[in-house]
Amino acid sequence: MSQALHSTHEALSAYVDGELTPDRAREVAEHLTTCMQCSAEYETLLATIAALRANLERYQAPDVLRARVRTAIAATPSISEPAARPEGGASRRRRPWVWQGGIAAALLVSAALGSGITLLASRGRTSTPDVAADVLASHVRSLMPDHLTDVRSSDQHNVKPWFNGRLDYSPNVPRLEEQGFPLVGGRVDYVGGRPVAVVVYSRRQHLINVFSWPTRLGDAPLGVTATNGYNMIHWRSRGVERWVVSDLNASELRSFTELLASS
Ligand SMILES: [Zn+2]
Repeated sequence: MSQALHSTHEALSAYVDGELTPDRAREVAEHLTTCMQCSAEYETLLATIAALRANLERYQAPDVLRARVRTAIAATPSISEPAARPEGGASRRRRPWVWQGGIAAALLVSAALGSGITLLASRGRTSTPDVAADVLASHVRSLMPDHLTDVRSSDQHNVKPWFNGRLDYSPNVPRLEEQGFPLVGGRVDYVGGRPVAVVVYSRRQHLINVFSWPTRLGDAPLGVTATNGYNMIHWRSRGVERWVVSDLNASELRSFTELLASS
C-alpha cells in the first residue's frame, strides 16, 4: 500500500465523488486515517462543497435546473459501481454517500454552466462577492477529474494560441517554471455569466487557477481573501481583471501573483 504517499487534490476530489476504483478508494481512506495533512485537505473539500451547496439552496435553483440535474444523474451510469463487487457488501454500504457526492458534483457543474439561470437571476453583473463565489466554484470544480484543463501543456506557446478564436481576449501566459510554478494548461470557464480565460499553474501538488477577462472598471490593487481553505487574490490592471485561486499558502501565492503581475 502507498501508505506514505499523500493524496493529490485530484485524488481527494475523485474520492469525494466516488470515482476511484474500490482499491484506490480504500488506499485513500486508509491514508486519511493516518495523515493529518491529507485529512485536513479532505475536510476542507467537504466543507467547500457543503458551503457551495448551501449557497445554491439560497439561490433557489429553478425547477428546470433541478430536473436537468436529476436527468443527468439518472442518465449517467454510476462510475462508482464496480464491475465486479469485491468482498461482499462493502461498496454497497458506501453508495448513499457516494451518490450524494455525485449530486454535489453535478450541482457544482450546473452552477457554473447554468449560471445564466441560477446565479444571474438575483444579481448585477459586476458585483464582486458574486464574482468571487463564481471564481471559487470554478476552482473547486476544476479539481474534479477531467475538469482542470481543455488544453494541457507546459509550453506557453501551446496554451496562449489555444484561446484564439475561443475568446475575444488573449490572456497573458508567462513562463514561470524556473521560479517554481510550472504551467499546466488552460481552459475556458464561466464567471458572472460570461466566458473567461483560465490559465493553470502548479506548485508542488497544489494547483493555481488564474482567471482573467477584460473590464472597463479602473485599476484596483491586490486584494487577498481566504475562503474555506482557499486563498484568492484579485486585482485589476490596464483593463484586465484577474483572480488567482489556490489552496497554496498565502505567502507563496502572493509571490506567484507578483511574478504574474510584473510579467
Ligand atoms: Zn497525506
